[in-house]
Amino acid sequence: MSLVNPCVSCGACCATFRVSFYWAEGDDSAGGYVPNELTEQITPYHRCMQGTNARAPRCVALQGEIGGNISCSIYENRPSPCREFAISVAGSNPACDKARAKYGLAALITIQEVA
Ligand code: SF4
Ligand code: SF4
Repeated sequence: MSLVNPCVSCGACCATFRVSFYWAEGDDSAGGYVPNELTEQITPYHRCMQGTNARAPRCVALQGEIGGNISCSIYENRPSPCREFAISVAGSNPACDKARAKYGLAALITIQEVA
């Protein structure tokens, strides 16, 4: 048995919130890894993912349809907010529930198991 990752058919959080982080996560800094060309400077010390600092946010790195087959084109190099954003199970992360609701996706009650 293995667990199904609901994020691979969701992506709602990547098109709901501004994804901002300390500038040094950019790959133009020593030890940075987020592709700088996909980011936008928002303060002297912070950047965000392009597309997320908008009235209708959608991260430039998001590929596919919300609620369908979707992926992050920089998954291995995504910034810290993306790494830290938890899937909500039974209300454990209201921000995830809110993002899913925005796109008509039900809140998750459990993570399904498949053979
Ligand atoms: S909104 Fe929740 S379920 Fe959807 S991609 Fe983000 S963390 Fe995953
Ligand atoms: S970098 Fe990837 S995980 Fe983060 S918001 Fe953009 S598409 Fe989503």
